[in-house]
Amino acid sequence: MAAFDRREFLASLAAGVAATTAPLGAGTEQRPATPASGPRALAAPAFAPLPLGAIRPTGWLARQLRLQADGLTGHLDEFWPDVADSQWFGGKAEGWERAPYWLDGAIPLAWILDVAPMKARITTYVNHIVEHQRADGWYAPYPEDAVAKRYDMWAILLANKVLAQYHDATGDPRVLDAVKKSLRAMAQGLDRTPLYNWGKFRWYEGLVPVFYVYERTKEPWLLDLAHKLRRQGVDFEALFATEDLAVPTPRRGLWKWTKHVVNTGMAAKASALGWRLDQRPRDRAWSTKMIEFLDRYHGQVTGMFAGDECLSGRSPLQGTELCAVVEFMYSLETLYSVFGNPVFGDRLERVAFNALPAALSPDGWSHQYDQQVNQAQCTINPDHRWSTNSPESNLFGLEPNFGCCTSNMHQGWPKFVSHLWMKTPDEGIAVAAYAPSRATFASRGVPVTIALDTDYPFRDTLTLTVSPARAARFPVVLRVPAWAEGATVRVGGGAAQAMTPGTLHRLDQLWHGPTEVAIRFPMAAVVTERYNGAVAIERGPLVYALKIGETWTRVNAAKPHRELPHGDFEVRPATPWNYGLVAAGRSIAGLTFTEQPVGPVPFSPEGAGMVATATAQRIPSWKLDAGWAAEIAPPDAAWADPGRTITTEPSEPVTLIPYGCTNIRITEFPKLT
Ligand SMILES: [Zn+2]
Repeated sequence: MAAFDRREFLASLAAGVAATTAPLGAGTEQRPATPASGPRALAAPAFAPLPLGAIRPTGWLARQLRLQADGLTGHLDEFWPDVADSQWFGGKAEGWERAPYWLDGAIPLAWILDVAPMKARITTYVNHIVEHQRADGWYAPYPEDAVAKRYDMWAILLANKVLAQYHDATGDPRVLDAVKKSLRAMAQGLDRTPLYNWGKFRWYEGLVPVFYVYERTKEPWLLDLAHKLRRQGVDFEALFATEDLAVPTPRRGLWKWTKHVVNTGMAAKASALGWRLDQRPRDRAWSTKMIEFLDRYHGQVTGMFAGDECLSGRSPLQGTELCAVVEFMYSLETLYSVFGNPVFGDRLERVAFNALPAALSPDGWSHQYDQQVNQAQCTINPDHRWSTNSPESNLFGLEPNFGCCTSNMHQGWPKFVSHLWMKTPDEGIAVAAYAPSRATFASRGVPVTIALDTDYPFRDTLTLTVSPARAARFPVVLRVPAWAEGATVRVGGGAAQAMTPGTLHRLDQLWHGPTEVAIRFPMAAVVTERYNGAVAIERGPLVYALKIGETWTRVNAAKPHRELPHGDFEVRPATPWNYGLVAAGRSIAGLTFTEQPVGPVPFSPEGAGMVATATAQRIPSWKLDAGWAAEIAPPDAAWADPGRTITTEPSEPVTLIPYGCTNIRITEFPKLT
C-alpha cells in the first residue's frame, strides 16, 4: 500500500478540487434549462433519456445482449431461489433486494431485445407485486408490524425504481398508480421511522421514481417527499471531506457503511439528482469532485475504483465488486443526462468496455464478485488480502462471496443500451456513448431513425445514418472523446470538419432523407504510469492487458444450484504471466496494434477485435505471493532501479488484448529500462 499522505489530503481539500493523476478533463458542459417556476419545480436534465425500447443494439452489442438473454439473466428466475421463490413474487425465499435487483436488469433486457418468454414471466411477477400491494400502500414483503418495528426502506426505494422502469417499457397505468401509492405510504412512514442503514446511504435511489411520477403528475407532495429523503439521507459531500474516505481499508480490515464500494458507486449520481431538486450550484461542482477524489485515492485503470468491498486504494491487486461497476455505470448515465458534460460519457465508455465485461464470463453464465486489474489467477484462496471479502471472491461462479452481484449485475449492458442516445431540449438527439445501435425519436412530430454502424471501440471509424421521415431541422450532438486528437466528421460526403476533443460537437442543419455522417476518432496508444510506478497501455477507450492461456477447473460442484451451465470455476494460468514491458523512451518497444474480426463473443480472449504486441522480458523473481501476482515494488525499490539488473531473460514479443476480453490478466507491468 502507498502511504497515505495526510498533508497532501488536507491540501487537496483546501484547494477545493484534488489535483489528480488521471484528470477528468475540462470538458464543455451543456447547460440545462433553468426551471420555469422557481425552486418548486424540477430542473430539466440537459439531455432526456429516450423511452425504454426506443434504442436497439446492433452488431457486436446485439450479440453481447443476446448472450445475456441466453445466459444467467434470461434464466436466473427459473432456478435461483432468491429470485425464483422470492417473497416479492409470493414465495418463501429472500424478500429484500434480490428480486427487485434482478428485475432492474431483466426488464430493460427483455424489452430492448423483445424476448417474449422473458417479458411474459416478468409481467407475471410485476402483476403479483401490484395485485398484492396492501391497502395502505406498502408492498407485500413489508412487515405487518413495521409500525412497531424499524424497517430499512432500501428495498422499497429499489422496487419503486424498478417498477417505474416497467411502466416506461409498457405504459401499464396500474403500475404507475402502485408506485404512487407506495411513495405516499413512504412519505408518512419516514416521519415514523427516518431512514437508517441501507436506506440512509441510498436515499437518492428513491428520487428516481419520485421524479418519474412527478414528471407525469406534477403533484407537489412528491417534491416534499424528495426533500425529506434528501434531508434524512447521508450528505456525501460532507462525508467525502473526511480523511477516512481517502485511506485504503486495511487488508482484512473493518467493514464500514461509509466506505462501502457499492454505496459509493451509487452515490456518484446523488449530486445530479439533488441538483435537479434544489438547483444548488455546489451540487454541479461536487459531482466531478467526488470522482476526482475516488481516482486520486482508489482509482483503477479501468475507470473504476477499488473496493473489496470497502474502498481499498490504488493497488491493482485489490478488488472491485461487480455491483459497484454496474451502479457506477448507471450513475454516469444519470450524470451525463443531467449535466450534459462529455467527461461523464468518456468515463461511462471506459467502465462499460473494460471493467464490466472483465467480471463476466464470456458465455454469460458466471461472474466474479471482485475483479483485479492484475489477476494472475482466480482460485479459492484462504490467503487472500481483500479488505473484507471471502476467499472465493474472484472465482467465476453463480454467487461467489455473496449473492448481491448475482442479482444486480444484469442492469449493466441493458441500461448502457437504453442510455446511448438522449433527446436534446431543442428537439435533437445527443450521443452519450458510442456502440452499434439504432434509435428512433420524434423531432417536432417528425419521426427520425438514427443508426450507428461501427465496431467501435475496436475500431476508430463510425458511420451514422440520420433518416427523418421528411425533411426536418434539428441538431445531432456528437460527444468528442477527450483522447480523440484529430477527430473528424464528414456529413453526406462533404468536406471533413475537425472536432475538438472533450467537447460536444453540434451538427445543426436541415436533414433531407437518409444522410450519412462519417466520424473518425483516431486512437493513439498511451502509456500511463500507475500504482508504484508500473505502466499500463491504453488506446482510445480500451485498456490493454496481457493475454494469458487459461485452465478452467470446475469447483463447488456439490453446492446447491451449481449444475451446469451455471457452475463455479477456478481459472489458472496455462502460459507465463510474469513479464515486464521493455521501454523505448517514453513509449513501449515493439508496440503495434492489429485489427481482428470482432468475434461472436466480443469480450472473450478469442473474440478480441483488436490485438496488440509489445516487447517484453520475463522476470523470474516475480512470482505468486499468497495466491496472487506479487505486488510490484515502488520506483525506489529494486525493480525500477536502473542500476540493477532485474532480468537477464531474452526479449520476446507478447500479445495484449482488450482488458474486457481477458479472464486472467496482467495490466499494470513493471517497466524495464
Ligand atoms: Zn455485489
